[in-house]
Amino acid sequence: ATVGGQVTLDELPLRDDLRGKSPYGAPQLDVAVRLNTNENPYPPPPELVADVVEASRVAAAELHRYPDRNAVGLRTDLADYLTTATGVPLTCANLWAANGSNEVLQQILQAFGGPGRIAVGFEPSYSMHPIIAAGTRTEWLPAPRRSDFSVDVHAAAAVLAEHAPDITFLTSPNNPTGQSLEPAELADLIDAAPGVVVVDEAYVEFSDRPSAVALLATHGHKLIVSRTMSKAFAFAGGRLGYLAAAPAVVDALQLVRLPYHLSALTQAAARAALRHADATLASVALLRAERGRVVSELAAAGYDVVPSDANFVLFGRFADAPRAWRAFLDRGVLIRDVGIAEHLRVTVGTPEENDAFLQVAVDVLALEE
Ligand code: PMP
Repeated sequence: ATVGGQVTLDELPLRDDLRGKSPYGAPQLDVAVRLNTNENPYPPPPELVADVVEASRVAAAELHRYPDRNAVGLRTDLADYLTTATGVPLTCANLWAANGSNEVLQQILQAFGGPGRIAVGFEPSYSMHPIIAAGTRTEWLPAPRRSDFSVDVHAAAAVLAEHAPDITFLTSPNNPTGQSLEPAELADLIDAAPGVVVVDEAYVEFSDRPSAVALLATHGHKLIVSRTMSKAFAFAGGRLGYLAAAPAVVDALQLVRLPYHLSALTQAAARAALRHADATLASVALLRAERGRVVSELAAAGYDVVPSDANFVLFGRFADAPRAWRAFLDRGVLIRDVGIAEHLRVTVGTPEENDAFLQVAVDVLALEE
């Protein structure tokens, strides 16, 4: 028996508001074709790997010391990258980084949410937003999207005016549905929001729409743009998320971050990966082309496909989505049941992975008939 195994979760003096909750749990299964967590299917190129190894070797010689608490070098490199990508002149003072954008979002909720405060999101959207809200004891208020999963900006503005949330989440492109918001729509919603607005741009590199970063010039007093190296940068295992905001927002986050939260190895590896951004981001064009192929072949097979601006596609309609998910898995393809009735989500993979998925998709549709 495991040491301590006789104690059950129910017996622990857990916070009442966490009782009965489930942890985030995308299955991590050993399947040939894994298209379930919106990763970049292309591994980092050998030059990047070599550079990460060398940067880690240098950092390892200093591991008896704590790392730079404020990650100034990394934040400066991220500012330079975002300035090049968006044309908006940003500096280290505008940037903040943490272990994945999940930690960035948690720090935002720790600083701007908390007991007695409200966060709004337009659902279905990223499942971690309400989970992080719960963990920080921020009240979560879900607001609806249209039945086609787009945001009705007028109705959304009315929700923000009525409930006056302290934090508003806008996910663009939205996970798991794929659509993004125009800058003008984002500006209208930021104007309507009384509190802080977090635009979660985890998938923005895959989108045709401009980044919300451009709105920092006009809406910087309440706009936070959250980003990640997990998707387009092919760095999910490195755990590096970041945000762009007004310098005062960055000051606020320093009040809640744990000291030395970004290890010396993480900082060194992320900086090395950023030096190869051109190579990793080259995969974006390939993945966008493959997204187009996956969308058109799914539609040709007879599926309903939700338009996507990201590296994944939501499609249906299944009489029983959990059963269809299992049918894909039984045929060696792991995709995602995101809890939307009649729909499943597939991440765009390599051409070979997409071929395998599309073949199975035809077989699974035949089961439906
Ligand atoms: N935001 C959205 C919308 C996401 O889909 C994800 C990843 N699934 C994240 C944030 C968090 O990613 P990470 O912590 O790897 O940066």
